[in-house]
Amino acid sequence: MSDSNPRLVLMGPPGAGKGTQSENIVEEYDVEHITTGDALRANKDIETEYGTPREYMEAGELVPDPVVNEIVVTALADADGFVLDGYPRNESQAEYLDSQTDLDLIALLEVGREELVHRLTGRRVDPETGENYHVEYNMPDDPEVRDRLVQRDDDTEETVQERLEVYEENTAPVIDFYEERGLVERVDGDRSPDEVWEDLDATIEVALDDG
Ligand code: AMP
Repeated sequence: MSDSNPRLVLMGPPGAGKGTQSENIVEEYDVEHITTGDALRANKDIETEYGTPREYMEAGELVPDPVVNEIVVTALADADGFVLDGYPRNESQAEYLDSQTDLDLIALLEVGREELVHRLTGRRVDPETGENYHVEYNMPDDPEVRDRLVQRDDDTEETVQERLEVYEENTAPVIDFYEERGLVERVDGDRSPDEVWEDLDATIEVALDDG
């Protein structure tokens, strides 16, 4: 490892595996995991001048920029090296981030739409541990855990389709923004988590060495 405090953004559509791979990055590179999705889920019913995050999240829409920017700037202040997961999600967030910090790498996880829908609609969460499972790919052995699994409110078929539309419309253009600066590396996310990690880890190493 060449840098003690890498500043990374993990991008990709909902269901690409950003959460899973962020955990690997945290373990390997000893950075903070800054995830706006988790922060918003923990504060769904907070009243803001735009309403509660819940209203936007359950519709699959983006929570207004000032709310998410505030979460990120507070987290950045405490982070010596980070992996951003789920942020920035539009160009205005990317510009805000730019005004707050430099970045070493944008790693983009690429997965086809059909596979994303399959992963998201089949995803189940253990409310006690926050661990993710999947009805086909990965169910817990323990029957007690199996019985308490729940589906995220926004993992229903209709909301998943909306989230993927929002990604195409708002978030995909952010990739061009970073591409122009030569910061983006693409990783094929349509493989097993271990295979994706092997490739992603190597990509990060190279980017840090070059930087
Ligand atoms: P995620 O867990 O990253 O899929 O995020 C779940 C939901 O939280 C999204 O569908 C949005 O409603 C909201 N959200 C998460 N991150 C952001 C962000 N950077 N900007 C706006 N809304 C966000």
